[in-house]
Amino acid sequence: MIRKNSHVKITNRSDTKSHDTITSEEANWMAMNWGRCPDCGQRLLGGPKDRNSQNVLCEDCSSEYNICSMTMGLTNRLGKASDDRKIFYGAAK
Ligand SMILES: [Zn+2]
Repeated sequence: MIRKNSHVKITNRSDTKSHDTITSEEANWMAMNWGRCPDCGQRLLGGPKDRNSQNVLCEDCSSEYNICSMTMGLTNRLGKASDDRKIFYGAAK
């Protein structure tokens, strides 16, 4: 069982609103907690994908990521998702 605040162990963090590549520490956390949001520890929803990558969304804190499978899971932030974008994940309220 993963506690909601398990993400606080990440000390080297990227800006949650940026479109930067996540830090190696965040990437390691994601590898150890597959399918979980490094910002809040909640489950990520799978969204649009193509051959090489997939977008994922945290329904809890709205952080959105792009995970590239061609680069061993290199993950970029897509910032905080708007309600319009959440439609792509079936998470619109
Ligand atoms: Zn989250």
